[in-house]
Formats: sequence, structure tokens, C-alpha cells
Amino acid sequence: MANVKKKLWENNGTFSSNDGIRASSLNFEKGQRTRRQQKDNGFKGKTQNRRQSLNDSLEGELRAFLIDEGALHTYDDLTKVNPVTPTTVLKCLQARYRAKVFYTHAGCTLVALNPFQPIPHLYSLDVMKEYHCAPQPQEFKPHIFIVAEEAYRNVQGQVEPTNQSLVVSGESGAGKTWTSRCLMKYYATVAASSSPKCQDTVERIERRVLDSNPIMEAFGNACTLRNNNSSRFGKYIQLQLNRSQLLVGASVQTYLLEKTRVACQGVNERNFHIFYQMMNDVTKEQRRDWMMPRDQWFTWLPNAEKTLEEDCFKETTDAMTNLGITKEKQGQIFQILAGLLHLGNVSFCPPTDELQPCDLQEQSKAFLQNTAHLLQISEEQLLTCLRLRALRAGKQGVLLKPCSLAECSVRRDCLAKVIYAQVFDWLVAFINRSICADPSSWCNFIGVLDVYGFECFTVNTLEQLCINYANEKLQQHFVAHYLKAQQEEYVSEGLEWSFIKYQDNQSCLDLIEGNPTSVLSLLNEECRLNRASDAKQFEARLEKELSDNTCMSWDKFSKHPHFTVSHYAGKVSYQIEGMMEKNKDPVPPELILLLQESRDSLLQGLFADHNTEENSNRGHSKVVTVLSKFKNSLESLMNILHSTTPHYTRCIKPNTDCRPLTFKKEEVIVQLEACGIVETINISAAGFPIRIPYLNFLQRYGLITNSRMWTQSMNGDGLQTDKDLLGSAVADVLNVVQKSNSLDCPSPNETETGSSL
Ligand code: ATP
Ligand code: MG
Repeated sequence: MANVKKKLWENNGTFSSNDGIRASSLNFEKGQRTRRQQKDNGFKGKTQNRRQSLNDSLEGELRAFLIDEGALHTYDDLTKVNPVTPTTVLKCLQARYRAKVFYTHAGCTLVALNPFQPIPHLYSLDVMKEYHCAPQPQEFKPHIFIVAEEAYRNVQGQVEPTNQSLVVSGESGAGKTWTSRCLMKYYATVAASSSPKCQDTVERIERRVLDSNPIMEAFGNACTLRNNNSSRFGKYIQLQLNRSQLLVGASVQTYLLEKTRVACQGVNERNFHIFYQMMNDVTKEQRRDWMMPRDQWFTWLPNAEKTLEEDCFKETTDAMTNLGITKEKQGQIFQILAGLLHLGNVSFCPPTDELQPCDLQEQSKAFLQNTAHLLQISEEQLLTCLRLRALRAGKQGVLLKPCSLAECSVRRDCLAKVIYAQVFDWLVAFINRSICADPSSWCNFIGVLDVYGFECFTVNTLEQLCINYANEKLQQHFVAHYLKAQQEEYVSEGLEWSFIKYQDNQSCLDLIEGNPTSVLSLLNEECRLNRASDAKQFEARLEKELSDNTCMSWDKFSKHPHFTVSHYAGKVSYQIEGMMEKNKDPVPPELILLLQESRDSLLQGLFADHNTEENSNRGHSKVVTVLSKFKNSLESLMNILHSTTPHYTRCIKPNTDCRPLTFKKEEVIVQLEACGIVETINISAAGFPIRIPYLNFLQRYGLITNSRMWTQSMNGDGLQTDKDLLGSAVADVLNVVQKSNSLDCPSPNETETGSSL
């Protein structure tokens, strides 16, 4: 908290928290409003007396405090831009971006603008050292290293050690992953042991922690329309520190991998990087082993001609080796992935006889054979599983029913998705085993959260609902933290103030996850009933049960069953069609059984403990839906965040085309709204948006009173550091202002008069 305060005052010049003087705030907002109101009501010029001229001079002076456009780029903290409005904030960020200043504080948040080009020296070792060694890094230019250093110092805690969380948010391509990497590199540098004794192990662990990045990015990132290196999963990485504040390990938790991408890539998008790496950068032998000649075309490998810097296979395999994944294991992993690519080339055609299963396309035969070979499963059983559904008949019997053409494709895609998701989870678990320190050797952590930002597309479905739900939770956490910080600050300043009731996003969260009835509960119930889902019926049910909630609405003109949620960042319409199926995420049991029989030990192991749908139904256990799993993991994340001191970084993408140094105002303002900066401004408007230290205040306004206090407080060189004396002089000035206001104003009820300390 102390650091938050320091930041608030740091640019006020004369005072700094080091001086041992507590600077105090003055609320001009009400006075300002009064003056404007008076103008509007034609009160101005009513009195010709001294009080009027004093008021005029105060207003003029106040204007001088307000925005000076020429100096906008010099504002290091957006809360100091007066007045704080979305427009002034936007102008300020634009001016800074033009001046190539990419970081700006916004109270307890750091705003990071993406330069979309490497900025030499901005993240160099020397700069890291500078921020790390500075007695007061907050006095330096805003930088992600200030946040990093603040968290690092806070871990030690004034009373007791406190775990820290660095929450990095923003839309796709805004720079979250870049920022998270920067933070990890910072800690791997400043928290490295210099002792030659520890050199071996410690260096190894730092390297390993950093090596987890290229692996997770190769398997979890992809080129999308918005970002060439888009993370298709969320992650929270805990950097573990020992008593001496040295980095001794880390652990990773991932969220909601977009596994559908394996089998279905959007127009002009690509599959996960790892598949392209395997096509580009490998030896002849590997090509032979994976049956992937250079000119082979794979359906699931679109836009392969586009080469990216992320397509470096060697970097991935080096990192895997450093983390202890043996060459043999790596071979097994890539063989499975190659199998998936071949599976993507398998397609069916309608049978000649309706009662027969779909026929395999002629050109698919070789690919089916290759898939079976690479996955080490029976080709015949694979074909059966892809085109015949197993139905239980009686206690022991099983009936095989031919699948429709569309169902065959769904089954093929489902097989690929479930395998890829298991491989990804296996890797994350391996990484954790490799970098996690023994619980006895670390005592605190700094967590870095790199999560997907708020999403609103033309068509939004279950994924967007999960992502926006997570963002609502994070926003609530942020607001609570921010309000608490402000409240504590006012209390420490001796201000009597209770916040105007701030409308938080609780009702939106109630709508999504509340008890007993919410979108989540109704969707889950629908899935558990296991009946053929009708989107129109479900829409009617939502309307019946949830239309009381003001965050829920429907677009009268929409032809598709949907519901619209008013999120803190804007309205999003979710399409109901297909949502239930996605929520159930069913995997035919026969596919799991097939994989459990694989001769490949890795693949077989991935599914050894996998409950088939059949098993779970038999045991009458609840269907675990995507939403309920996501809710649980989100809850545990929130519990961790609540137990830590949070630091927020909001990454902003200055233009959608990822062009260097291009700032598009219309695009930025939308993000400022979506990532809650405008919201933060609104919250701060519920408090005191303008803060002036006593001394600055007196230097400007002291003249309007002849009080002894003022003369004393401005002794000799104009500096007086006696807090009580300054406080009394300020009170004198405010008295004069208050009296003059009460004369000007018709009644205290009609205008809000005076400023409060
Ligand atoms: P997504 O949600 O899609 O994963 P993201 O927010 O993680 O997006 P990044 O991948 O971190 O976005 O950033 C996108 C690109 O922007 C990077 O690949 C890099 O080229 C550029 N970039 C981001 N931050 C910086 C920076 N501070 N300096 C230079 N380039 C940057
Ligand atoms: Mg990312």
C-alpha cells in the first residue's frame, strides 16, 4: 500500500515519501463542479466583492492545473491528468506513444503500449540492474521493471513475507506474453545467486524456468488473424523464492487450451506452431520416421508457406532437452503429433448402401494406415471407431451403429483434440516436475498471470463465455483491490469519506455463476439431463429464469437463439446453438479404449486413467462439464490471487494491424474500456480525482488569505515542512473559499460547495 501512495505523490515535486512528510490531498472536484454549475446557472458576475475575485482567481489557477496539452507526454501517471476523463487519458497515451514512451502508470495499474518493434536497450541487463539497485525505483520512468521490482521487494514484506501476483491482461496481440517473459527474465536475472557454490544448480533452475516458455509457446501458441504468436491457453506461473529471495523453482498452471484448433483452423489462421516446426526444421530421418516428405500437403496445416520466427524446432527441442525430456520421449511425442497430421487427411464419403458405414475416401487409405502406424494402434479398430458408434445392448452386448458422414468427421476431430490436449497436459506436468522446487526449499512466490483478455466476436460461444467470465472475476478482484487501496489512502490522510456506492459487476457475475440459478447452472443442468438439446427451448428457459437480472437481454432482431450479457467491458451476444455440445465435450468411450490399447507407451499412459463416458455413467457420477471444470480452476486461481498482493499491468494494442509505432485512437479507447482503465477512472471519479500537496496548494492559493498561518508556512525560502502548520494554513484558505461559495450560492442543497480535506 505504501508503494501505491508513493506513486501517487511521486510527481508532485517538493514532497516525496522520503521527506518524512505526509503530503495531503485536496478535493477540488466538488468546487469545480460548483463553479461550472454557477456559470451555467448565470450566477457568475453577481457579486463584485473581493470574494468573487478570489473565486475567479482560484478558478483560473485551477485551470492551470488542468490539462496542458503540450506537456501531455510528460504525465507518468494517468491519474494525474486533470481532469481524468477517457479523452484526456487517450490523448496522454497518444502523446507518450509518439514520444516513444511505452509505459504509463494509472494509479495502481501499469499501462503498457505495444511498440510492435524491438526497442533497443529498453529491457537490457543494464536497465534491469538500474531498476533493481535503485533505492526508489518508483522515481524512475514507468517501466514493467518497476512493477517487477515492487513485487520483489514486497515479497519480503514489512511485517511478514507476502506472496505477490502480477496480473497481465489485454486483448490478443497487446503484449501479455511478451510482458510475462520480460518479468520472468527479470527475476531470473535479479534473483539469481551470485555465489559460485550455487552457480550450477541455481543457474540451471533459472535456465529451466525460462526454457518452459518456448515449449509451452510451441505447443500452445498459434498464428491467428490478431497475433502471429497468439497464446491459445491461459497460464499462471509461480516463481518460487527462498528465504534469501533467490529464484529456486517455479510451477505452472494452465487454463482452457483451445484444443479445437488442432482439427479446425480459422480462415488465414494456422495450427499450433509445433506442427509447422516439424515440417520445416527437421532431419531426413525424422521426416522418414514421421512419414512427412517435404512436399506433403496436410489439411490441418494451412498457411504452411507463411514462415514465422516462431517456427524454430531446434529452440523447442533444446528447451525440452534442458528440461529433461529425453530424446526418446521427444521422439514419441512428435510421432504422435505426426499421427494427428495424417489423421487430418482421412475423410469419408457416403456409403452406397444406407445401412452400411461411410466409405473411406480412396486417397485417405494410406493416411489411415499411417495414422494407425504412428499412433501404434490397430488400423482396423481405428476405422471401426471412426465410422461406427458402439451402443450398449443389455448388460454385456454391444451394438455397432453406422455414423453419418458428419458424425465420422466429428469423431475424427474429437480423437485429434483429445490426444493433443493430453499431450499438452503431459508436457505441463513434466515441466512442473522439472522446475518445481522442493516445498521445503522455498517460502514465497511471485505469480505471473498471462490470461486472455475480454473477447467479443461476431459469433461468440462457450469459449468466449468462459474467457469473459474469467475477465469479470479478475475485474471484480481489481476493483475491490483498487477501492481498498483508495479507501486506505484516505483513511491514512485523515479524510472522512465514504465512496459513493460504486456499481460493481456483482450482478453480472450473479448472472453467470450465481446460486441457485445462473447461465452456468442452467447450461450444466441441460447437459446433465443428457437429452437432445434444443437451442430455442433453452433460450426460452433462460428468459424465464434470468430475465430479472439487468445484465441479461435479448436482441429482438436476432434470428438465432442467443442471450446477451452486459459485461463491464461491453455487451456480448452468445450463440446458444452448439453450446451444450461444447459444454459436454463428449469423447466416445470406444475412442478412449482404442488409445488405451496403443502399443506406444506414452500414448497408452496418457489415457491409462481416463474415465470413459461409459464408466462414469455406470457409476452414476456427475457429468463434468467444461464450464464446471473451468469454474473450479478459476475459483482456485481467485483464491490464490486473494491471498497475494496483486499488481496489474494492462497491455494495449495501439493498432490491429500490428504496425510499428502506429496509434489508432478509436482502437485504443475500446481497449481502455475493455481492460477497465476507463472503469478505473470512473472509480477514481467516485473519490478524489485531483490531488495537490499542501505546499503546492499554498504556493498557488495562499495569497487569498492574509492569515498568519500562511505567512508562517511560507517562511523565508518558501519552504516549510511542519505538517501541522501547513495543514492549518490550507484550512484557512479553504475557509475563505467556502465562505465565498456560500455567499454566491443560493442554497447548500442546490450546489455542492467547498472542498474537503
Ligand atoms: P495473445 O492474447 O494473442 O496471446 P499477447 O497479448 O500475448 O496476445 P504478445 O504475443 O505478447 O501478445 O505480443 C504480440 C507481439 O507484439 C509480439 O510477438 C511482439 O512482436 C510484439 N510486442 C509485444 N510487446 C512488445 C514490446 N514490449 N516490445 C516490442 N515488441 C513487443
Ligand atoms: Mg500471449
